[in-house]
Amino acid sequence: MVILQLALLLLLAGCSAWAEEWTYWIDPCTPEAEKATACKPGDPELGKWALEAWARESGGGITFRASPTEAHARLRIHWANGQGSLYGEAVPVEVDGQRGADIYVLPDTRMLGREIATATRTDEMLRDTVVYLTCLHETGHGIGFAHTAAFADIMYSFRFGGDINEYFGRYRRSLKKRGDIATRAGISEADRAVLKARYPAKE
Ligand SMILES: [Zn+2]
Repeated sequence: MVILQLALLLLLAGCSAWAEEWTYWIDPCTPEAEKATACKPGDPELGKWALEAWARESGGGITFRASPTEAHARLRIHWANGQGSLYGEAVPVEVDGQRGADIYVLPDTRMLGREIATATRTDEMLRDTVVYLTCLHETGHGIGFAHTAAFADIMYSFRFGGDINEYFGRYRRSLKKRGDIATRAGISEADRAVLKARYPAKE
């Protein structure tokens, strides 16, 4: 009986090692943070949906678990105020001996140029689209993905040019309500292939 229990324990331990688990922390959008960065109280949920999208699309190859403390979280999403780069930034850090990233997301779409500023002023879901897709892109860097030159990809770099309004607009048009973001990942087939190669799900 003891041997059977031991075998079962080993089996369970093996199962949990199959998916690579990443701990995360997302800054709450407190009234002070809202004043400093124009984040919205619902923005942490957009960050969480971005992580859930990577996990879901990997088919179980990568999972995320909320860390009770920021210090021990491998991915930390922060709301930025535009002092750094536009949209967002992922800065590699080492966390408890493992690879991690400090992620900065700019929630103030008024700072993203006149076109985006104008378009998001009257369309809250477009504004949430920009913040969500930025979270998705930057957390993508955080878990190890590089830029691509393909406009369809979430890891596309705007340095390659293209219609940035349309980049966000095409995702925005797929939404009927804000909650749809939780089920529409917004990644391309090529992104998914890279994700699955890096974090293979073991059945
Ligand atoms: Zn990038």
